[in-house]
Amino acid sequence: MSKIFMKTPLVEMDGDEMTRILWSWIKEILIEPFVDLKTEYYDLGLVERDKTDDKVTVDSAIATKKYGVAVKCATITPNAQRVEEYNLKKMYKSPNGTIRALLDGTVFRAPILVDGITPYIPTWKKPIVIARHAYGDIYKAVDGKAGVGKAELVYTDKDGNKTVQEIFDFKDGGVVCAMHNTDKSIKSFARACFNYALDLKLPLWFSTKDTISKVYDGNFKAIFNEVYENEYKEKFEKAGIEYMYTLIDDVVARIVRSEGGIVWACKNYDGDVMSDMVATAYGSLAMMTSVLVSPDGIYEYEAAHGTVTRHYYKYIKGEPTSTNPVATIFAWSGALRKRGELDCTPDLVAFADKLEKATIDTIEGGEMTGDLVGLFKKEGVTPVKLNSREFLQAIAKRLA
Ligand code: NAP
Ligand code: MG
Repeated sequence: MSKIFMKTPLVEMDGDEMTRILWSWIKEILIEPFVDLKTEYYDLGLVERDKTDDKVTVDSAIATKKYGVAVKCATITPNAQRVEEYNLKKMYKSPNGTIRALLDGTVFRAPILVDGITPYIPTWKKPIVIARHAYGDIYKAVDGKAGVGKAELVYTDKDGNKTVQEIFDFKDGGVVCAMHNTDKSIKSFARACFNYALDLKLPLWFSTKDTISKVYDGNFKAIFNEVYENEYKEKFEKAGIEYMYTLIDDVVARIVRSEGGIVWACKNYDGDVMSDMVATAYGSLAMMTSVLVSPDGIYEYEAAHGTVTRHYYKYIKGEPTSTNPVATIFAWSGALRKRGELDCTPDLVAFADKLEKATIDTIEGGEMTGDLVGLFKKEGVTPVKLNSREFLQAIAKRLA
């Protein structure tokens, strides 16, 4: 059998622990036998990040800008315990944070749906994709405690003119908080959301609380509206999808009643909270994909979960683990499909579709990893727990 041709390499970002093991098995069992795989390889494992003073992370992001599509394995974000465990020179920043800052991206998270795993909200038939703005608001806020006295918000313009607004005149103790965002970041966020909705041909809903936060959230609403009217309205009409702005509480009510099939654009905090709610309601974090999209159309695919440390410690003791590789497989298929679309290589796009279908068919046929066995209920099918390699081999049988 001749292998599928690739024109342009993918940027491959390897990672840590159990997901690093799954990474090499996915390539060995599901990709390399079928695709003449071309990648530009960057090792983002913690050992190599330490060796290069984290330069490898920056290099991988620059390569992603050059080639346009990357696939990333989960990586350790070091804390004090990891600094000791890996004898690190310093506590490096989150690689995802570094890459996001360089690509100026928005993160989209979507569940992988399987017949037999019913969401806790059973009317959800299609994915709900959460688009989270990943800059500012309370994540970059300044806050503090107040005693008796007046708290004020002071703005000094470039000529030194001051505007002072009273926040609250405290008669007793309390707390204050000031946060910000930038028009540039909100515009990038808006474009990434509009582009992604067009890509998936799904309607886009954007929510804030502008009835209460008239200036702050009102600015988000106005920027989205302006970007839509000037740049995307015609494209949306052509694609037959709608853009809707509404209040966050209204969206929450609508989402619960919906059957899914929506991209929901959220401000930073809303996206943080709602993506965990949506992921849990669909069944499992191991079935959630994540893609970072920049406003100029650069894509980085990954699984939403971490490096599954507990399973890795079992693996290095020589015990087989039943770690779920589905989200990582979908990171690869997502990246291969996007590469195929950009390069006009339809065979590669078809392979990505086939790989995803084979993965879903394997689970629906009753073969799955341990985390899914307890969730799976389908008439006439008794779920069987496989270890990670057996599960990958079961998928590969359907690809041959
Ligand atoms: P985690 O790796 O997502 O794992 C948490 C738990 O969720 C696991 O112990 C496991 O539960 C379950 N789980 C997650 N993915 C699974 C899978 N594919 N198959 C089966 N079970 C799965 O999160 P964490 O333990 O908080 O973080 C571990 C490391 O990952 C940390 O160093 C963190 O910095 C890093 N991390 C990286 C990323 C990223 O690169 N995007 C994201 C998050 C965390 P059981 O143990 O009960 O089986
Ligand atoms: Mg969260």
